[in-house]
This record gives sequence, structure tokens and C-alpha cells, in this order.
Amino acid sequence: MSDNLKFENIYCVGRNFVGHAKELGNKVPTSPIIFQKSNSAVNTKEIIKIPKNKKIEHELEIVLLIGKDGVPNSHEDARTFISGFSIGLDLTDRGLQTELKKKGLPWFSSKSFQGSAVIDTHFRHECPNEFYLTVNQKIRQEGSLKQMIFSFEEIILHLSKIVDFKKGDIIFTGTPEGVAPLESGDQIEMGFISHPPKKLFVV
Ligand code: ZN
Repeated sequence: MSDNLKFENIYCVGRNFVGHAKELGNKVPTSPIIFQKSNSAVNTKEIIKIPKNKKIEHELEIVLLIGKDGVPNSHEDARTFISGFSIGLDLTDRGLQTELKKKGLPWFSSKSFQGSAVIDTHFRHECPNEFYLTVNQKIRQEGSLKQMIFSFEEIILHLSKIVDFKKGDIIFTGTPEGVAPLESGDQIEMGFISHPPKKLFVV
């Protein structure tokens, strides 16, 4: 798929993997936890700029591209709203998020800083089962579809009770365990197992 994609709303699912919910000391949710990033947070380049003096953590996630407007009426119909699957990083200012969580405030400012929605624009028509992230050639995160608490269809059906979809909407579907801070100089590879990875560099 080409780079002239126009993205609309950026939706994200929190705590969709048991291992990640536990590593941050959270309970496993009984329905999807949804938050948003602003469209201006999208970064489709090969460079990640980390704000100075911040603990910015990577969250490796499968990213869905919504291919049509409207609302699905069934589980099967939900699948037809997905036009592509790719990989992204839900970059998170963890220090700020922890503070906001303590105060019971929205996570927005810890999740939607400039460049925080990293997306590989090479969307696929099928979703491979396993995905991974390396930092400086070492594995940091690995996930598989069967570890997800809520399936893509369940996420889409849940979201559609809140919003009408627009063609070009993006959904970050949650991260497996292994989230950790990025440092200036880090070399990143992220992708589906046995497919060419996207390479990024942190400055
Ligand atoms: Zn996330």
C-alpha cells in the first residue's frame, strides 16, 4: 500500500495482553479500554524524536487500517471494515502517564505528544500471527494474535458503539509485555515474523 494514505482518527486499545497488564500492575480488563491519539501525532518516517528528559517507552502493536465509513452490524461484518494490517509503536511518556493515572486524569497528554503514533505504512491484506520488536539487535517485545484478550472484531464492534468509523481510521490494538524506555541512538526493527521489518532510528 502506498505512502499517500490519509489517516483520520487514531484509536488505541489499552491492556489487551495479560502480560502487559500485569507488568504495569493493572487488572485484566473485562471490556476493551479505549483511548485516542490526535491525528497530528502520526509519524510514518524512519526517525523517532524523543523529547529531552522524558522516559518514553515503546509499545509494539498491530495497527488496523479501516477501509470504509460506517458501523458494522455483526462479528463477520466487523472484519470487512479492516482494509490493512501493519505494525506501529504507541509511544508513551510513562512518567507522566503514571502521574495522570494516580490522579484519575485522562492519559491524553502522555500518549499524544508529537510523533507518538509511529506507523509502518506498508499495510498487508492478511495479518500474520506473530510480531516483534528489536532494539539494538536484541528482542524487546514479541506477541501473537492468540495472546490478545480482545480480537480485532471484538475491538471494532466495541468501538462502533461509541463512534462511526471513517475510511482512514487507525486502531492500535494493544501491546504485549516488554515495554521499556527508548534512548537516543537506539536502532529499531519492528515487523511481522518472516516478513521484512521496518527499521527506525531514535534521535
Ligand atoms: Zn498501547
